[in-house]
Formats: sequence, C-alpha cells, structure tokens
Amino acid sequence: DVIRDPQIQTARLKLPILAEEQQIMEVINSNSIIIVSGETGSGKTTQIPQFLYEGGYALKKQIAVTEPRRIAAISMSQRVAEEMNLSGREVSFLVRFQGNVTDDTKIKFMTDGVLLKEVQSDFLLSNYSVVILDEAHERSLYTDILVGLLSRIVKLREKKNDPLKLIVMSATLRLEDFTTNRRLFKVPPPVIKVDTRQFPVTIHFNRRTEEDYLKEAFRKTVKIHSTLPDGVYCCFDRVALKKTVEVENDALKDLGDNRKKGKRSKKVVLPEINLNDYSLPGDAEHNSDYEGSDSELEDPIGTESVVHGQPLWVLPLYSLLSVQKQNRIFQQVPSGCRLCVVSTNVAETSLTIPGIKYVVDSGKTKTKLYDKVTGVSSYAICWTSKASADQRAGRAGRMGPGHCYRLYSSAVFNDTFVDFGEPEIRRAPADDLYLRMRNMNIEKIINFPFPTAPDLLQLKTAETRLKILGVLDQNGKVTGLGRAVSKFPVLPRFGKMLALSHQHEILPYTICLVAALSIPEVLMEVSISAKTDSSDKWAATRLRWAGSGNSYLLGDNMVLLKAVGAAEFAHSEGKLEQFCAENGIRSKAVSEIRKLRLQLSNEISVNVADTDVVVDPKMAPPNDLQAKLLRQILLAGLGDQVAKKMSVDEVPAGENKAKFKYAYHANNMEDLVFLHRGSVLKRSLPEFVIYQELYETNKIYMRGVTAIEPE
Ligand code: ADP
Ligand code: MG
Repeated sequence: DVIRDPQIQTARLKLPILAEEQQIMEVINSNSIIIVSGETGSGKTTQIPQFLYEGGYALKKQIAVTEPRRIAAISMSQRVAEEMNLSGREVSFLVRFQGNVTDDTKIKFMTDGVLLKEVQSDFLLSNYSVVILDEAHERSLYTDILVGLLSRIVKLREKKNDPLKLIVMSATLRLEDFTTNRRLFKVPPPVIKVDTRQFPVTIHFNRRTEEDYLKEAFRKTVKIHSTLPDGVYCCFDRVALKKTVEVENDALKDLGDNRKKGKRSKKVVLPEINLNDYSLPGDAEHNSDYEGSDSELEDPIGTESVVHGQPLWVLPLYSLLSVQKQNRIFQQVPSGCRLCVVSTNVAETSLTIPGIKYVVDSGKTKTKLYDKVTGVSSYAICWTSKASADQRAGRAGRMGPGHCYRLYSSAVFNDTFVDFGEPEIRRAPADDLYLRMRNMNIEKIINFPFPTAPDLLQLKTAETRLKILGVLDQNGKVTGLGRAVSKFPVLPRFGKMLALSHQHEILPYTICLVAALSIPEVLMEVSISAKTDSSDKWAATRLRWAGSGNSYLLGDNMVLLKAVGAAEFAHSEGKLEQFCAENGIRSKAVSEIRKLRLQLSNEISVNVADTDVVVDPKMAPPNDLQAKLLRQILLAGLGDQVAKKMSVDEVPAGENKAKFKYAYHANNMEDLVFLHRGSVLKRSLPEFVIYQELYETNKIYMRGVTAIEPE
C-alpha cells in the first residue's frame, strides 16, 4: 500500500485525472493496447504509473516508462518516488550513463534509447508487465520504432500467455498517426482522454515581427518584469539562450551606468552563468565573443531606485547542461527573487516548472538539418510549428490564468508556421536504425509498421553505406562483423573501429576515441571571425597536443585523445572545471566520455573471449606506431568519407588563389569542402584526409580530420 504525504495527496486530488482513476483502470485492464491523450500537466506521466502500481501491475514484473529525453526520465522518476513516498530503489531511472535501478525496482523510467537496447537483447521484454511510451507526440526516432516493435511484441506475449500491456501517451496532437494507421494497429486502440486543469491563456501577438528577436525577447521580459507580478518563463532555441545572456549583460551595463547617474534601474541576478555552456558547433564563430565578468552582475544596485524591488533569478535550461544545473529550476528561488527560465524546447512538454504565468515565445527552434544524399549537416534557426507554439503557450495556464507573448505577428503564425514538425525518423540518418532492425531479423524495413514511414532514399543510402562498411553483405544480410558491431551502443562506423581494434593492442585508445567521437561538442571550436586571446591560446595548445610524426597525422583525433587524457588528469587533481574552461573543453562531455569508455570496455570484456579491458582514464598518449594503427582503424571506419586536396591548377582563372587554400574535394560531393581554421592539419594540408562529418555554416567544413597520406 502506498502511504502518501497529506500535502502531496491534496495536490494530486486537484488533478482531474484522479477522479477518473477507476474508469481509466477499467479500460487498461480490459485492453492490451491503449492510447492516453491529454495536455501537458494533466497528470499522465506522474499519475498513470501510480495507478498501475496500485492496480497490482508491479507485483511480479516491472512497469516501464520511456521518455525521449534524459532530463525527463530522471526528474519524473524522482517526482513519482516523492509522490509515492518510495525511494529511488523502487521508483528508479536508467538513462545512457546513469541510473539507480535495483532488484526492488517496481517502476522504471528510462529513455526510449535504453528500452530499444533492451529489445535487442530480450525481444519479448519479459521483465515488464506494462510498457508506457510517454511523449509519443514528440515523434522521436526511438519512440517511433518502439511503437512499431511493441505493436508486435504485445501479440507475441499474448500467444505465450504472458500478457504485456502497451500504453502510448501523447498530447492531443496528431493522434490519428497512431489511431488510423491500420498497419500499426489493425483494430484501433481505445483512446482515453484526460482533462487538464487549464486556465485561460491570453495570446498576445506582436504587431510586427522584429528581425532581432533576441533583443525583442529581452525587451519583453524586462517589460513583464517591471510591470506585471509573478513568475516568467521564456522559450527560445539554444542560440537565443546564449545571446540572451549577452544582451542581458549589455543591458546590465547600461543599468549600472544609469545607476551611477542616479536614474531608476532594476536589479537582475544571473547565477553562475558560464558562457562556455552555450557553445554549439553551428555557432562556433561566436564562442568567445563574450567578455565580461560574472561578478559585475551580482553587484547590488541600490534598492531605492528599483521599480519593482525584486531581483530576477535567471536560469538557463537545455539538454547539454549538467543535471545539477538543470535541477536548479526545481529548487527554491532565493528569497525575494523572481524566477525566469530561459529554455530550449526541452521545457515545451515533459517538464513541469512550477509557477509559470508568462511565456515569451520567440517562435524559433534550432533544428539539425541533414542532407539525405550528401550527409552534410547544418543547423538552422527556423519557425517552430503551430502545434509546438501552442504547447509553449499552454505552459502559462497551469496555476491560474496566464499570458503568452508571441514575438511574431498573427499573419506570420497563420501563413508561415507549419501545423506539425516533421518526425525525427524522416530527418535523421538511418544507418543506425537500419542495422539495428536488420539485426533484429526485420527483413523488409520499408514494410515495418512505423507511425510514419522513413524516406526511401534515406534507407537506400543507409543500406549502401552499411554495405561499404562491410556490416551488411551484398544481399543485405548482416555479416559477422555486423553482429559484432551492433553490440556496441555507438554508430555502426564506430562499432566497426572497435571490432577491428581487437586484433591490435590499441583497444584502449580506440575505445577512448570512439567514446569521444560519440559525444557531441567535446571541444569548443576555435573562433574564425573573432580573434580573441582564449581562442588563440586554444589553437596553440591543440597544435602542441597534436605533436609530430604519426601523432600529428592523426590530426584532430589526436587532439581529442590528448584533450580527454589531459582533462582526466586535471580531474584526478580536482581541477576539471578550471582546466576545461581554460582549454575550451566541455566538462560534462568529459564525464560522459568516461562513462561511455567504461561501458564499452565492459561490453567488450563480456562479449569477447580473452579480452579484459581495464580503463585507465588518464592513460599515456599513443606512441608513433600506435598512432599509425589508429589512423588505419579510422580509415576502416570512415573510409567512405575521404577528401582530396584541391590543387592550385584547379583554381579558376581570375579567382583569388588564397580563397581555395584549404579547399578539398570530398568523394560523392559536387561542392568543395574546407579544412576549418581550428583543424591542426591546416599547417600541412595533407593530400588525402578522412573526416568525421561535414557541416555547413558559411561554407561546408570537415569536422574531425585525420591524414591518410603521406605514409
Ligand atoms: P503530464 O504528463 O500530463 O504532462 P505530469 O504528470 O507531468 O503531467 O504533471 C501533472 C501535475 O503534477 C502538474 O500539473 C503539476 O501540478 C504536478 N507536478 C509534476 N511535476 C512536478 C514537480 N516536479 N514539482 C511540483 N509539481 C509537479
Ligand atoms: Mg508528461
């Protein structure tokens, strides 16, 4: 029996879903596949698992709940544990690098990627009595695959007389993708609609759509802060996040100047803002633009001149931020302060931030675009969809009537915004998906019951690449190498590098490199446009790290290895944060690499006979021979991503030769690709190189470059 804290129980009883517990459980008990739809805040994530627990579903097996985002899996498990008065031993979470699952776990929150991995080792998911796929409307790649797989697994479990229930939970958006898709569910599953205590939200459109939406967002926030009471919440994209802080910083300087002149001003507090947190690959040019000391910001401004005496407590929220910092949004705001959360769309659906009354919506979202044929990736700031703008607005009406300020006109909203965003399955490269599914013996992937089918061209290019890698044979069958490769929780090309390293004594290096290549944005990019001291210093350090001989030819990947080793050394001396800040390394990435190295090493020790890999985080750098072997292994994994230096003779007559100094021809690409200013190989411009990926900003650049010639 669950004994809840009276205060929690009172709060629960205010949710309309509680009154419907009995009807909901009747539908669940008498159907094997159920859809639950309701707006954010209706109590789907926190309450349904508790209903199931109290209904006896955790007596023999576990209740699984998947979330597309790590933050949500962790924080929802904590919230449910708290509501049920149970510990993390019973209501637990498991995400890629972290977890607190025990033998006593009854409810297990996990990311959709983690459950997909479990399907690979136990197709029937026999540990679970119920699987809840939460946030299905987000249409994340793994949730989409899981919906398809589970529609079949439920039938198999039925045949075995060991029934499994599938509950798909979604906002009210686009439910038809699940209900009317006959290939997915032959009989449309019952839909339980959950009410939300939603207060009216007044939508305010801007009359004009300002070009500089960051400035506009800041202006609007300050205006709300100085004229309206209670909490604020902003929703931006990641770039906006960083720039907002900069804009704010400038504005603070103005406020400070005004104060000296005895004018009125407001106090804004920016806690522990570290601008390194805001760096992104597509935004590399701006990384070091920020000059300004945080201590200035905390300089108290005389209260007598303040309009509304309350300082603003500004907290950033985005997925690359460390969990501790993310959790600050749930902590007590310093006394007398007012909370303002500046967030990416992480906060759009899964998380409940208490007390939000105002939403400032830039209408923008940052999307990774991926060219299906060439594989070039780029980031673009685009308008979000109507559906997600409405989700953002809905955030303001949880505790009472609220307001949403849209920084764009109603005409832009009506004419330019699409109704829904594209599901991830149609936007991401399909290599990993393709190999995983082939490995689960799914023959014709195009016939698989996805909620939305992937693009045919995308599947074809994935198949070709996997054949080149040798993980599929010419008939599309998974090879021995392919089976070895798919054991690893990394992209197939990196799995191949691991599988091949077994034969040499360089496995610990490959593990480290693969781990580092699998974590996004480990090194901050050296700035191209703004020549600043720190970015010059980073460039010099990286050149030193590259060394000479084969080590230098290993190029950017040698730098990555050295950076990880050096950061681990600093970590062992308790100086990780400082070292990372000085050298342009993201410290959260260092700890994620450490965990992934351990995971990969364990995986190899378990699966490969006579191999016992011990991870020494701060291992010595590879010697010349080892560096040479690593180059060959990289070539095996990235062999389809080769580029050849453009020769001077090719420069069209009349063109400036300097413009083509760093230009390369990549295979299968018409456009030229370039060596980035931040690459250590730009000193020697090798004839042939391989690269980790191509990305486009003002031109197409290669990232993670290694020389394959000269030998
Ligand atoms: P849904 O999954 O339908 O979006 P949730 O189950 O996440 O809804 O949340 C239901 C309600 O529980 C919220 O409206 C809020 O009142 C409360 N709640 C959820 N998480 C928290 C939290 N971390 N702190 C305080 N209240 C919370
Ligand atoms: Mg939810």
